[in-house]
Amino acid sequence: HSLGLRDPSLLEFRAPVAGEWIEAREGRRFAVTDPVDGSLIGHVPDLGAEEARRAIDMAHAVQPEWARRTAKERSRILRRWYDLIIEHADDLALILTTEQGKPLAEAKAEVVSNAAYIEWFAEEAKRIDGDVIPGATPSQRILVLKQPVGVCAAITPWNFPNGMITRKVGPALAAGCTMVLKPAAQTPLSALALAVLAERAGVPKGAFSVITATQAQPIGEEFCRNPKVAKITFTGSTNVGRWLMREAAGGIKRLSLELGGNAPFIVFDDADLDAAVEGALASKFRNAGQTCVCANRIYVQEGIVETFAAKLAEKAAGLKLGRGTEAGVAMGPLIDDRAVAKMEEHVADALAGGAQVLVGGKRSSLGGTFFEPTVMTGIRQGMKVTREETFAPLAPIIAFRDEAEVIGMANDTEYGLASYFYARDMARVFRVAEALQSGMVGVNTPALANEMAPFGGVKQSGLGREGSKYGIEGFLEIKYVALSGL
Ligand code: ADP
Repeated sequence: HSLGLRDPSLLEFRAPVAGEWIEAREGRRFAVTDPVDGSLIGHVPDLGAEEARRAIDMAHAVQPEWARRTAKERSRILRRWYDLIIEHADDLALILTTEQGKPLAEAKAEVVSNAAYIEWFAEEAKRIDGDVIPGATPSQRILVLKQPVGVCAAITPWNFPNGMITRKVGPALAAGCTMVLKPAAQTPLSALALAVLAERAGVPKGAFSVITATQAQPIGEEFCRNPKVAKITFTGSTNVGRWLMREAAGGIKRLSLELGGNAPFIVFDDADLDAAVEGALASKFRNAGQTCVCANRIYVQEGIVETFAAKLAEKAAGLKLGRGTEAGVAMGPLIDDRAVAKMEEHVADALAGGAQVLVGGKRSSLGGTFFEPTVMTGIRQGMKVTREETFAPLAPIIAFRDEAEVIGMANDTEYGLASYFYARDMARVFRVAEALQSGMVGVNTPALANEMAPFGGVKQSGLGREGSKYGIEGFLEIKYVALSGL
């Protein structure tokens, strides 16, 4: 099984742990499958707390040497890693689509746009500047140093199997930290391919280990309890985020958490309606609705709600479902049966409350975990779709009267990751952008993530920011030196 890659060595089934590549042995391995039909791609090692501990020990041993290198040298290695990812972007995209299901063009966009975080932090490595502050007495100066936090542990989800890794490992290595990663069990192959390229780029042995595993909890516990781990960076569900925070409390570990969302997508009646329809389509159906920044609730002002719903339904009906490697496919399968069950539960709950299906609403005739892109109207605040993250291709449309009402509804959630709105009145744009309780607001755009911007949430959507000049701060400690006797 080589998937037809140009460089078949990127399809790696061994895991790099503490500087050695561990084989998948009979009895201690698990299957990686294609979500399109459940077919086997291959087996990877099923590792546990013991391997995590070994990886942490080695990451701890090599970290001081990595941090002592000049920023320029770390930068050069990261730049090489970035160049290799770009050079092999087609292969990485194919591996991603095969294990995750998203259309190939989306997979390639994920690879390329998230490799940019490595490029960015390769540049930022050289700009980890401290300060010199006037002292409290004439013979004193206050020196502020920025130093790497040390060993970092990362836990990543299956929805962006490549991008969630580069945006964590890039800044960590740039700052002089080392990293132990546990990728999602559904999608370990993207992580392993990235590790192959990291090694080729010159990332030192043991500075980046990958623990492939089906049992996440023992590894999570090791990350949280091992005194050699300084920081945990996690993207995933709010519940697991809460658990990690509790577990990590014993060691007062540094935490970055990028958790669930319940993004409102608001269309005011002064908006460019067609742009709003396109935006909603992209925001809701990208990755089959399986992104933490996906529009979860679509609020449309009452005068335009019918036109908007009809246009969105027509576009949604035109999205082609299928295998991600087929030409023209806009949406792949959902990741597993649990995802389909949640979608069905939200549709049924809305129907029971009197909502209507304009398009979709059921599993696709393609079978498996394919679900039709769905648009529903007559949704009311309080239905499950407005309270929980659906994480599936369901666009629920809710009519609203005025700005005050919609802001109240939009903020009526414990989440605060992304929100979006379409409007043209400048005063309204400022008022609404400031009133929405979320870490990110897309005004007249569904596209938020790029390496130059601080990505992250408020409320129960998380802690910390990834990307931008702020993104490296989570991997640095501030040390203040009182320089006296001058
Ligand atoms: P999802 O529902 O999208 O799978 P999760 O938060 O369960 O979201 O998973 C995101 C990542 O967190 C995955 O890598 C998963 O294996 C990991 N994970 C889940 N539970 C734990 C845990 N108790 N400790 C550590 N990692 C966990």
